Amino acid sequence: MTRNELIRALRVTEAALWKAGNLLRDAAPDVLDAQQEVARILRAVDSSEKCQRCGCALVQTGLGRPKRYCSDNCRKYAYAEKRQTG
Ligand SMILES: [Zn+2]
Repeated sequence: MTRNELIRALRVTEAALWKAGNLLRDAAPDVLDAQQEVARILRAVDSSEKCQRCGCALVQTGLGRPKRYCSDNCRKYAYAEKRQTG
């Protein structure tokens, strides 16, 4: 399974859980727990998907730390911008 497929699957699961949570509400605290858990995982997986500066898709190598920028250029600009804004 690729990362994109995983994200898609998580989005479908999240949507289904929201629907179930809305329908069942008090009767199903498990559903709400699952919903939050999926949303959390989705955020974690999804946020590492995009370059923090330009937002283009990242390809993770799976080695070392997850990449946050698509290129050295973006990383340099992001650090420079951070310095300027303090
Ligand atoms: Zn970038």
